[in-house]
Amino acid sequence: MGRKTDITLLDEKGIRCDGRKIDQTRNITIKAGILKNADGSAYIEFGGNKIIAGVYGPRDIHPKHLADSDTGVLRCRYHMQPFSVPERKNPAPSRREIEISKVIKESLQPAVILDDFPRTAIDLYLEVLQADGGSRCAAIDAASVALADAGIPMRDMVSACAAGKVENTIVLDVNNEEDQAGQADMPVALMPHLEKITLVQLDGMLTPDEYKKCLETAIIGCKQVYEIQRSALKAKYENGG
Ligand code: ADP
Repeated sequence: MGRKTDITLLDEKGIRCDGRKIDQTRNITIKAGILKNADGSAYIEFGGNKIIAGVYGPRDIHPKHLADSDTGVLRCRYHMQPFSVPERKNPAPSRREIEISKVIKESLQPAVILDDFPRTAIDLYLEVLQADGGSRCAAIDAASVALADAGIPMRDMVSACAAGKVENTIVLDVNNEEDQAGQADMPVALMPHLEKITLVQLDGMLTPDEYKKCLETAIIGCKQVYEIQRSALKAKYENGG
């Protein structure tokens, strides 16, 4: 965050380095039910991010000592393929991937009705095929569709989008260049019907007013993502699975 580069992040006409306006997300497409062998699945393209989500469960939990007789357990693995970034990434899980797996799990947990499935696990696998800034939000968006596709009862969808600050301006959906050279990046996840936020992170510095504007901006993005998630699920079931 805040690294100096020669790139113009925002020009005098308010156009960003990838041609977007300050309140515009990147192109987002989601497809539900793309894997035959998983119980639920989804594929998302969120700008340059390309991510597959696969869900199994609720199913018997292994190792057994992790079983909780009061509730089911949600487990999540976010993993980047070696070819997902310009320099080959070591396929072994990095500290960053372990942390993002935890963050994604915690952002989804409030929506999933785990109490109905004691002693079981719901396993969520997120494979990042291509990363381009904002991959945790895109992964949450795909995960939520995959969980719904698996028929797991949920209180609401979880829709995620970041906002941030570049050239002292709050912008929606920070891309990789803006993440690297901008002033702040704030990923947000929202349960849109319940109007409850399940994730806020902040990398960078914001004044209290900027924080409020950034959060409001991200929430607008989350609501736009929700419509795309909903269309993806409708498209699958209207087309007969
Ligand atoms: P997020 O993808 O959720 O924004 P980060 O802020 O940690 O998470 O990462 C921002 C971006 O940095 C990623 O989306 C990816 O494009 C890039 N990135 C992450 N890890 C690596 C890596 N090991 N090598 C190159 N680029 C990376």
